[in-house]
Amino acid sequence: MKEEAKKVLKKLEEHGYEAYFVGGCVRDWLLHRPVHDIDICTNAHPGDIMKLFPDHIPTGLQHGTVTVKQDGYLFEVTTFRTEGVYEDFRRPSEVTYVNEVVEDLARRDFTINAMAMKYNKELIDPFFGLEDVNDHVIRAVGDANRRFQEDALRLIRGVRFASQLGFQIEDETRKAMRDNAPLLIHIAVERVREECNKLIDSRHPDKGFQFAKQTKIFQSIPLLQQLFDQSTMHLWRLQTVESVIHKWVVLLFAADFSWEQSRELCRYLKMSRKEEETITFLMQQLMLLQPLWDQCQSIDWTRLIMKHGLERCYDLEKVLDVLWWNDLSNKKNTLQATLDKMAVKTLKELAVDGSEIRKLSDQKQGPWIQKTLEYLWERTVTGELANVSEALLIAAKDFIHGEMEHPANEMKK
Ligand code: ATP
Ligand code: MG
Repeated sequence: MKEEAKKVLKKLEEHGYEAYFVGGCVRDWLLHRPVHDIDICTNAHPGDIMKLFPDHIPTGLQHGTVTVKQDGYLFEVTTFRTEGVYEDFRRPSEVTYVNEVVEDLARRDFTINAMAMKYNKELIDPFFGLEDVNDHVIRAVGDANRRFQEDALRLIRGVRFASQLGFQIEDETRKAMRDNAPLLIHIAVERVREECNKLIDSRHPDKGFQFAKQTKIFQSIPLLQQLFDQSTMHLWRLQTVESVIHKWVVLLFAADFSWEQSRELCRYLKMSRKEEETITFLMQQLMLLQPLWDQCQSIDWTRLIMKHGLERCYDLEKVLDVLWWNDLSNKKNTLQATLDKMAVKTLKELAVDGSEIRKLSDQKQGPWIQKTLEYLWERTVTGELANVSEALLIAAKDFIHGEMEHPANEMKK
Protein backbone atom coordinates (compact mmCIF):
# COMPACT_ATOMS: atom_id res chain seq x y z
CA MET A 1 0.00 0.00 0.00
CA LYS A 2 1.11 3.53 -0.60
CA GLU A 3 3.38 5.04 2.04
CA GLU A 4 1.26 8.19 2.01
CA ALA A 5 -1.86 6.19 2.90
CA LYS A 6 0.03 4.45 5.69
CA LYS A 7 0.88 7.85 7.12
CA VAL A 8 -2.84 8.65 7.34
CA LEU A 9 -3.55 5.39 9.20
CA LYS A 10 -0.61 5.93 11.50
CA LYS A 11 -1.66 9.44 12.42
CA LEU A 12 -5.20 8.30 13.24
CA GLU A 13 -3.82 5.46 15.37
CA GLU A 14 -1.41 7.79 17.16
CA HIS A 15 -4.35 9.90 18.17
CA GLY A 16 -6.10 6.93 19.71
CA TYR A 17 -8.45 6.03 16.87
CA GLU A 18 -8.86 2.77 15.03
CA ALA A 19 -8.13 3.02 11.32
CA TYR A 20 -8.00 0.50 8.48
CA PHE A 21 -7.57 0.10 4.78
CA VAL A 22 -10.91 -1.24 3.60
CA GLY A 23 -12.87 -2.66 0.68
CA GLY A 24 -11.55 -2.83 -2.87
CA CYS A 25 -7.98 -1.84 -2.03
CA VAL A 26 -7.56 -4.72 0.44
CA ARG A 27 -9.08 -7.16 -2.05
CA ASP A 28 -6.80 -5.97 -4.87
CA TRP A 29 -3.72 -5.91 -2.64
CA LEU A 30 -4.36 -9.54 -1.63
CA LEU A 31 -4.78 -10.45 -5.30
CA HIS A 32 -1.58 -8.63 -6.30
CA ARG A 33 -3.64 -6.46 -8.59
CA PRO A 34 -2.88 -2.77 -9.05
CA VAL A 35 -4.63 -0.76 -6.33
CA HIS A 36 -6.24 2.30 -7.93
CA ASP A 37 -8.01 3.97 -5.05
CA ILE A 38 -7.36 3.54 -1.36
CA ASP A 39 -10.29 3.81 1.05
CA ILE A 40 -9.76 4.15 4.76
CA CYS A 41 -12.31 3.56 7.51
CA THR A 42 -12.06 4.71 11.11
CA ASN A 43 -14.03 5.21 14.30
CA ALA A 44 -13.02 8.91 14.22
CA HIS A 45 -15.98 11.10 13.27
CA PRO A 46 -15.77 13.53 10.34
CA GLY A 47 -15.20 16.46 12.70
CA ASP A 48 -12.22 14.68 14.31
CA ILE A 49 -10.82 13.73 10.90
CA MET A 50 -11.01 17.30 9.60
CA LYS A 51 -9.29 18.59 12.75
CA LEU A 52 -6.52 16.04 12.47
CA PHE A 53 -5.97 16.66 8.74
CA PRO A 54 -6.31 20.37 8.01
CA ASP A 55 -5.60 19.62 4.35
CA HIS A 56 -8.90 17.96 3.47
CA ILE A 57 -11.99 18.22 1.26
CA PRO A 58 -15.37 17.56 2.89
CA THR A 59 -16.53 15.44 -0.06
CA GLY A 60 -19.32 13.39 1.47
CA LEU A 61 -20.04 14.53 5.00
CA GLN A 62 -23.61 13.21 4.83
CA HIS A 63 -22.08 9.74 4.33
CA GLY A 64 -19.35 10.32 6.88
CA THR A 65 -16.62 10.75 4.26
CA VAL A 66 -13.76 13.26 4.30
CA THR A 67 -11.16 13.24 1.54
CA VAL A 68 -7.75 13.70 3.11
CA LYS A 69 -4.77 15.05 1.21
CA GLN A 70 -1.45 13.54 2.16
CA ASP A 71 1.73 14.51 0.30
CA GLY A 72 -0.26 15.24 -2.86
CA TYR A 73 -2.39 12.06 -2.77
CA LEU A 74 -6.10 11.90 -1.96
CA PHE A 75 -7.65 9.29 0.31
CA GLU A 76 -11.28 8.87 1.27
CA VAL A 77 -11.57 8.48 5.02
CA THR A 78 -15.00 7.29 6.17
CA THR A 79 -16.38 6.85 9.65
CA PHE A 80 -17.59 3.32 10.53
CA ARG A 81 -21.25 3.29 9.63
CA THR A 82 -24.32 1.24 8.84
CA GLU A 83 -26.79 2.23 6.21
CA GLY A 84 -30.09 2.18 8.13
CA VAL A 85 -33.23 1.80 6.06
CA TYR A 86 -33.02 1.21 2.32
CA GLU A 87 -35.71 2.77 0.20
CA ASP A 88 -36.76 1.84 -3.33
CA PHE A 89 -34.09 -0.86 -3.62
CA ARG A 90 -31.32 1.76 -3.58
CA ARG A 91 -28.70 2.67 -1.06
CA PRO A 92 -30.03 5.06 1.57
CA SER A 93 -29.11 8.71 1.75
CA GLU A 94 -28.81 8.62 5.53
CA VAL A 95 -26.28 6.67 7.53
CA THR A 96 -25.69 5.86 11.18
CA TYR A 97 -22.23 5.84 12.72
CA VAL A 98 -21.21 2.72 14.60
CA ASN A 99 -18.30 1.90 16.89
CA GLU A 100 -17.11 -1.42 15.54
CA VAL A 101 -15.33 -2.03 12.26
CA VAL A 102 -17.16 -5.36 11.98
CA GLU A 103 -20.50 -3.56 11.82
CA ASP A 104 -19.14 -1.38 9.03
CA LEU A 105 -17.91 -4.43 7.12
CA ALA A 106 -21.34 -6.06 7.45
CA ARG A 107 -23.00 -3.39 5.26
CA ARG A 108 -20.68 -4.15 2.32
CA ASP A 109 -21.76 -6.12 -0.72
CA PHE A 110 -19.47 -9.12 -1.15
CA THR A 111 -17.13 -10.95 1.23
CA ILE A 112 -14.12 -10.11 -0.94
CA ASN A 113 -15.00 -6.41 -0.48
CA ALA A 114 -15.73 -6.73 3.24
CA MET A 115 -12.23 -6.95 4.67
CA ALA A 116 -10.27 -4.33 6.56
CA MET A 117 -6.52 -4.26 7.10
CA LYS A 118 -4.53 -2.52 9.79
CA TYR A 119 -1.35 -0.56 9.32
CA ASN A 120 0.58 -3.67 10.45
CA LYS A 121 -1.21 -5.82 7.80
CA GLU A 122 -3.44 -7.53 10.38
CA LEU A 123 -6.59 -8.57 8.50
CA ILE A 124 -10.10 -8.04 9.92
CA ASP A 125 -12.08 -10.63 8.04
CA PRO A 126 -15.31 -11.59 9.82
CA PHE A 127 -16.99 -12.92 6.64
CA PHE A 128 -14.07 -15.06 5.42
CA GLY A 129 -13.31 -12.89 2.44
CA LEU A 130 -9.73 -14.14 2.24
CA GLU A 131 -10.95 -17.68 1.73
CA ASP A 132 -13.19 -16.46 -1.10
CA VAL A 133 -10.33 -14.46 -2.60
CA ASN A 134 -8.21 -17.61 -2.60
CA ASP A 135 -11.04 -19.76 -3.97
CA HIS A 136 -11.96 -17.14 -6.59
CA VAL A 137 -15.53 -16.80 -5.38
CA ILE A 138 -17.99 -13.89 -5.24
CA ARG A 139 -20.32 -14.35 -2.27
CA ALA A 140 -22.79 -11.88 -0.78
CA VAL A 141 -22.18 -10.82 2.81
CA GLY A 142 -24.92 -12.42 4.93
CA ASP A 143 -28.34 -13.08 3.40
CA ALA A 144 -27.91 -12.72 -0.36
CA ASN A 145 -31.58 -12.08 -1.07
CA ARG A 146 -31.74 -9.28 1.41
CA ARG A 147 -28.54 -7.69 0.15
CA PHE A 148 -29.83 -7.45 -3.41
CA GLN A 149 -33.20 -6.17 -2.20
CA GLU A 150 -31.46 -3.44 -0.21
CA ASP A 151 -29.52 -2.23 -3.22
CA ALA A 152 -30.13 -3.67 -6.67
CA LEU A 153 -26.93 -2.17 -8.09
CA ARG A 154 -25.16 -5.03 -6.31
CA LEU A 155 -26.64 -7.35 -8.95
CA ILE A 156 -24.43 -5.91 -11.66
CA ARG A 157 -21.53 -5.24 -9.32
CA GLY A 158 -21.43 -8.99 -8.64
CA VAL A 159 -21.30 -9.87 -12.32
CA ARG A 160 -18.82 -7.07 -12.96
CA PHE A 161 -16.41 -8.34 -10.29
CA ALA A 162 -16.71 -11.88 -11.70
CA SER A 163 -15.79 -10.39 -15.06
CA GLN A 164 -12.87 -8.30 -13.79
CA LEU A 165 -11.39 -10.95 -11.53
CA GLY A 166 -12.35 -14.08 -13.45
CA PHE A 167 -14.17 -15.41 -10.33
CA GLN A 168 -17.14 -17.76 -9.94
CA ILE A 169 -20.33 -16.59 -8.28
CA GLU A 170 -21.28 -18.77 -5.33
CA ASP A 171 -24.54 -20.74 -5.80
CA GLU A 172 -26.77 -19.01 -3.22
CA THR A 173 -25.60 -15.61 -4.38
CA ARG A 174 -26.23 -16.51 -7.99
CA LYS A 175 -29.69 -17.84 -7.20
CA ALA A 176 -30.52 -14.64 -5.33
CA MET A 177 -29.32 -12.66 -8.34
CA ARG A 178 -31.67 -14.53 -10.61
CA ASP A 179 -34.58 -14.17 -8.19
CA ASN A 180 -34.04 -10.44 -7.69
CA ALA A 181 -33.05 -9.50 -11.23
CA PRO A 182 -36.28 -7.52 -11.90
CA LEU A 183 -35.22 -5.02 -9.21
CA LEU A 184 -32.54 -3.59 -11.46
CA ILE A 185 -35.22 -1.37 -12.97
CA HIS A 186 -35.01 0.82 -9.83
CA ILE A 187 -31.39 1.78 -10.46
CA ALA A 188 -30.48 4.97 -12.33
CA VAL A 189 -29.46 4.06 -15.90
CA GLU A 190 -26.26 6.09 -15.56
CA ARG A 191 -25.08 3.73 -12.83
CA VAL A 192 -26.15 0.68 -14.84
CA ARG A 193 -24.19 2.05 -17.80
CA GLU A 194 -21.05 2.68 -15.74
CA GLU A 195 -21.12 -0.87 -14.40
CA CYS A 196 -21.72 -2.24 -17.92
CA ASN A 197 -18.74 -0.27 -19.19
CA LYS A 198 -16.52 -1.81 -16.52
CA LEU A 199 -17.92 -5.25 -17.27
CA ILE A 200 -17.36 -4.97 -21.02
CA ASP A 201 -13.91 -3.50 -20.51
CA SER A 202 -12.77 -6.26 -18.13
CA ARG A 203 -10.19 -9.03 -18.39
CA HIS A 204 -12.67 -11.92 -18.33
CA PRO A 205 -15.83 -10.79 -20.13
CA ASP A 206 -16.67 -14.44 -20.85
CA LYS A 207 -17.30 -14.92 -17.12
CA GLY A 208 -19.42 -11.82 -16.76
CA PHE A 209 -21.46 -12.61 -19.84
CA GLN A 210 -21.96 -16.19 -18.75
CA PHE A 211 -23.42 -15.04 -15.41
CA ALA A 212 -25.45 -12.25 -16.97
CA LYS A 213 -26.98 -14.85 -19.26
CA GLN A 214 -27.60 -17.39 -16.51
CA THR A 215 -29.07 -14.99 -13.98
CA LYS A 216 -30.85 -12.76 -16.50
CA ILE A 217 -29.88 -9.73 -14.44
CA PHE A 218 -30.67 -7.37 -17.30
CA GLN A 219 -34.16 -8.75 -17.96
CA SER A 220 -35.77 -5.43 -17.02
CA ILE A 221 -33.84 -3.83 -19.91
CA PRO A 222 -34.66 -6.33 -22.69
CA LEU A 223 -32.27 -4.87 -25.29
CA LEU A 224 -29.40 -5.11 -22.85
CA GLN A 225 -30.26 -8.66 -21.87
CA GLN A 226 -30.45 -9.54 -25.57
CA LEU A 227 -26.99 -8.07 -26.09
CA PHE A 228 -25.52 -10.14 -23.28
CA ASP A 229 -27.31 -13.30 -24.41
CA GLN A 230 -26.46 -13.14 -28.07
CA SER A 231 -22.90 -11.89 -28.29
CA THR A 232 -21.11 -14.61 -26.33
CA MET A 233 -19.62 -16.38 -29.34
CA HIS A 234 -17.52 -13.39 -30.30
CA LEU A 235 -16.33 -12.23 -26.88
CA TRP A 236 -12.76 -13.26 -27.65
CA ARG A 237 -12.63 -10.39 -30.10
CA LEU A 238 -13.01 -7.85 -27.29
CA GLN A 239 -9.47 -8.40 -26.07
CA THR A 240 -8.04 -6.85 -29.21
CA VAL A 241 -10.05 -3.62 -28.97
CA GLU A 242 -8.96 -0.76 -26.79
CA SER A 243 -11.78 1.71 -26.66
CA VAL A 244 -14.87 0.75 -24.72
CA ILE A 245 -17.08 2.37 -27.37
CA HIS A 246 -15.56 0.11 -30.00
CA LYS A 247 -16.21 -2.81 -27.67
CA TRP A 248 -19.88 -1.88 -27.53
CA VAL A 249 -19.95 -1.91 -31.33
CA VAL A 250 -18.28 -5.31 -31.53
CA LEU A 251 -20.91 -6.70 -29.14
CA LEU A 252 -23.84 -5.05 -30.89
CA PHE A 253 -22.66 -6.43 -34.20
CA ALA A 254 -22.02 -9.85 -32.71
CA ALA A 255 -25.54 -9.87 -31.26
CA ASP A 256 -26.96 -9.00 -34.66
CA PHE A 257 -28.40 -5.65 -33.64
CA SER A 258 -29.63 -3.30 -36.33
CA TRP A 259 -28.28 0.22 -36.21
CA GLU A 260 -31.70 1.43 -35.10
CA GLN A 261 -31.72 -0.97 -32.15
CA SER A 262 -28.17 0.06 -31.32
CA ARG A 263 -29.18 3.70 -31.24
CA GLU A 264 -32.17 2.87 -29.08
CA LEU A 265 -29.93 1.16 -26.54
CA CYS A 266 -27.48 4.09 -26.52
CA ARG A 267 -30.35 6.46 -25.84
CA TYR A 268 -31.83 4.25 -23.16
CA LEU A 269 -28.47 4.13 -21.38
CA LYS A 270 -28.12 7.90 -21.78
CA MET A 271 -24.75 7.66 -23.48
CA SER A 272 -23.30 11.00 -24.56
CA ARG A 273 -24.34 12.43 -27.91
CA LYS A 274 -20.88 11.77 -29.29
CA GLU A 275 -20.89 8.15 -28.16
CA GLU A 276 -24.35 7.60 -29.60
CA GLU A 277 -23.35 9.10 -32.93
CA THR A 278 -20.14 7.10 -33.13
CA ILE A 279 -21.88 3.83 -32.34
CA THR A 280 -24.74 4.52 -34.76
CA PHE A 281 -22.36 5.50 -37.55
CA LEU A 282 -20.22 2.42 -37.09
CA MET A 283 -23.24 0.11 -36.99
CA GLN A 284 -24.61 1.65 -40.19
CA GLN A 285 -21.30 1.25 -41.98
CA LEU A 286 -20.86 -2.30 -40.77
CA MET A 287 -24.25 -3.21 -42.19
CA LEU A 288 -23.13 -1.81 -45.53
CA LEU A 289 -19.60 -3.19 -45.57
CA GLN A 290 -19.84 -6.47 -43.83
CA PRO A 291 -23.07 -8.29 -44.45
CA LEU A 292 -21.43 -11.57 -43.43
CA TRP A 293 -18.77 -12.56 -40.91
CA ASP A 294 -15.28 -12.76 -42.35
CA GLN A 295 -16.49 -11.85 -45.80
CA CYS A 296 -13.89 -9.54 -47.17
CA GLN A 297 -15.18 -6.73 -49.28
CA SER A 298 -13.03 -4.19 -50.88
CA ILE A 299 -13.49 -0.88 -49.17
CA ASP A 300 -13.55 2.41 -50.99
CA TRP A 301 -11.71 4.38 -48.33
CA THR A 302 -11.40 7.44 -50.54
CA ARG A 303 -15.15 7.76 -50.77
CA LEU A 304 -15.57 7.11 -47.06
CA ILE A 305 -12.95 9.68 -46.10
CA MET A 306 -14.57 12.26 -48.33
CA LYS A 307 -18.04 11.55 -47.06
CA HIS A 308 -17.43 11.06 -43.34
CA GLY A 309 -14.04 12.49 -42.55
CA LEU A 310 -10.84 10.88 -41.35
CA GLU A 311 -11.69 10.49 -37.66
CA ARG A 312 -14.73 8.35 -38.40
CA CYS A 313 -12.69 6.26 -40.85
CA TYR A 314 -10.06 5.54 -38.21
CA ASP A 315 -12.85 4.31 -35.92
CA LEU A 316 -14.31 2.19 -38.67
CA GLU A 317 -11.02 0.58 -39.59
CA LYS A 318 -10.33 -0.33 -35.97
CA VAL A 319 -13.68 -2.03 -35.63
CA LEU A 320 -13.37 -3.80 -38.96
CA ASP A 321 -9.95 -5.07 -38.00
CA VAL A 322 -11.54 -6.82 -35.07
CA LEU A 323 -14.68 -8.09 -36.72
CA TRP A 324 -13.44 -8.93 -40.10
CA TRP A 325 -9.85 -9.83 -40.37
CA ASN A 326 -9.27 -12.84 -38.22
CA ASP A 327 -5.81 -12.77 -39.69
CA LEU A 328 -4.62 -9.23 -40.10
CA SER A 329 -1.75 -10.30 -42.33
CA ASN A 330 -4.34 -10.88 -45.07
CA LYS A 331 -5.55 -7.35 -44.81
CA LYS A 332 -5.76 -5.55 -48.10
CA ASN A 333 -6.47 -1.92 -48.92
CA THR A 334 -5.73 -0.22 -45.62
CA LEU A 335 -6.88 3.24 -44.73
CA GLN A 336 -3.28 4.37 -44.41
CA ALA A 337 -2.35 3.18 -47.91
CA THR A 338 -5.32 5.07 -49.32
CA LEU A 339 -4.39 8.13 -47.38
CA ASP A 340 -0.79 7.98 -48.57
CA LYS A 341 -2.02 7.99 -52.14
CA MET A 342 -4.42 10.89 -51.70
CA ALA A 343 -2.83 14.10 -52.92
CA VAL A 344 -5.27 16.12 -50.82
CA LYS A 345 -6.40 14.46 -47.63
CA THR A 346 -8.82 17.05 -46.29
CA LEU A 347 -10.61 20.12 -47.57
CA LYS A 348 -8.19 22.25 -45.60
CA GLU A 349 -5.29 20.99 -47.67
CA LEU A 350 -6.76 22.41 -50.88
CA ALA A 351 -4.67 25.20 -52.38
CA VAL A 352 -7.70 27.52 -52.30
CA ASP A 353 -10.05 28.35 -49.44
CA GLY A 354 -13.62 29.53 -49.02
CA SER A 355 -12.86 33.23 -49.16
CA GLU A 356 -11.15 32.85 -52.55
CA ILE A 357 -14.09 30.84 -53.88
CA ARG A 358 -16.52 33.47 -52.65
CA LYS A 359 -14.86 36.16 -54.76
CA LEU A 360 -15.65 34.14 -57.90
CA SER A 361 -19.37 34.88 -57.81
CA ASP A 362 -21.84 37.60 -56.87
CA GLN A 363 -23.91 35.12 -54.94
CA LYS A 364 -24.40 35.62 -51.21
CA GLN A 365 -22.40 33.49 -48.83
CA GLY A 366 -24.06 30.08 -48.64
CA PRO A 367 -23.70 26.33 -48.98
CA TRP A 368 -22.48 26.77 -52.56
CA ILE A 369 -19.01 27.64 -51.28
CA GLN A 370 -18.65 24.38 -49.37
CA LYS A 371 -20.12 22.49 -52.32
CA THR A 372 -17.55 24.02 -54.67
CA LEU A 373 -14.70 23.13 -52.32
CA GLU A 374 -15.96 19.56 -52.12
CA TYR A 375 -16.13 19.37 -55.89
CA LEU A 376 -12.53 20.57 -56.15
CA TRP A 377 -11.43 18.14 -53.52
CA GLU A 378 -13.04 15.23 -55.33
CA ARG A 379 -11.30 16.18 -58.59
CA THR A 380 -7.91 16.51 -56.93
CA VAL A 381 -8.38 13.23 -55.12
CA THR A 382 -9.16 11.41 -58.34
CA GLY A 383 -6.06 12.98 -59.86
CA GLU A 384 -7.94 14.89 -62.57
CA LEU A 385 -6.89 18.18 -61.17
CA ALA A 386 -3.61 19.40 -59.69
CA ASN A 387 -3.75 21.03 -56.28
CA VAL A 388 -2.54 24.37 -57.61
CA SER A 389 -4.54 27.50 -56.97
CA GLU A 390 -4.76 28.74 -60.61
CA ALA A 391 -6.05 25.40 -61.85
CA LEU A 392 -8.46 25.10 -58.97
CA LEU A 393 -9.89 28.57 -59.49
CA ILE A 394 -10.52 27.93 -63.18
CA ALA A 395 -12.25 24.65 -62.39
CA ALA A 396 -14.23 26.33 -59.63
CA LYS A 397 -15.44 29.04 -61.98
CA ASP A 398 -16.66 26.43 -64.46
CA PHE A 399 -18.35 24.52 -61.72
CA ILE A 400 -20.15 27.56 -60.33
CA HIS A 401 -21.28 28.52 -63.79
CA GLY A 402 -22.53 25.04 -64.51
CA GLU A 403 -24.37 24.94 -61.22
CA MET A 404 -26.12 28.20 -61.95
CA GLU A 405 -27.15 27.09 -65.39
CA HIS A 406 -28.19 23.62 -64.30
CA PRO A 407 -29.27 23.90 -60.70
CA ALA A 408 -30.50 20.30 -60.92
CA ASN A 409 -26.84 19.25 -60.65
CA GLU A 410 -26.87 20.64 -57.20
CA MET A 411 -29.46 18.10 -56.20
CA LYS A 412 -27.27 15.31 -57.45
CA LYS A 413 -24.29 16.35 -55.36
P1 ATP B 1 -13.44 -0.72 -7.87
O1 ATP B 1 -13.08 0.61 -7.26
O2 ATP B 1 -12.31 -1.52 -8.36
O3 ATP B 1 -14.54 -0.60 -8.86
P2 ATP B 1 -14.34 -1.30 -5.23
O4 ATP B 1 -14.64 -2.60 -4.54
O5 ATP B 1 -13.29 -0.45 -4.64
O6 ATP B 1 -14.04 -1.65 -6.73
P3 ATP B 1 -16.06 0.95 -4.96
O7 ATP B 1 -17.31 1.25 -5.69
O8 ATP B 1 -14.89 1.82 -5.08
O9 ATP B 1 -15.70 -0.54 -5.35
O10 ATP B 1 -16.50 0.81 -3.43
C1 ATP B 1 -15.58 0.67 -2.36
C2 ATP B 1 -16.14 -0.33 -1.34
O11 ATP B 1 -17.41 0.12 -0.86
C3 ATP B 1 -16.42 -1.71 -1.91
O12 ATP B 1 -15.26 -2.52 -1.89
C4 ATP B 1 -17.48 -2.22 -0.98
O13 ATP B 1 -16.92 -2.67 0.24
C5 ATP B 1 -18.28 -0.97 -0.69
N1 ATP B 1 -19.41 -0.79 -1.64
C6 ATP B 1 -19.42 -0.08 -2.77
N2 ATP B 1 -20.61 -0.12 -3.38
C7 ATP B 1 -21.39 -0.87 -2.60
C8 ATP B 1 -22.75 -1.29 -2.66
N3 ATP B 1 -23.55 -0.94 -3.68
N4 ATP B 1 -23.23 -2.06 -1.65
C9 ATP B 1 -22.43 -2.42 -0.62
N5 ATP B 1 -21.16 -2.08 -0.50
C10 ATP B 1 -20.63 -1.32 -1.47
MG1 MG C 1 -12.78 1.49 -5.37
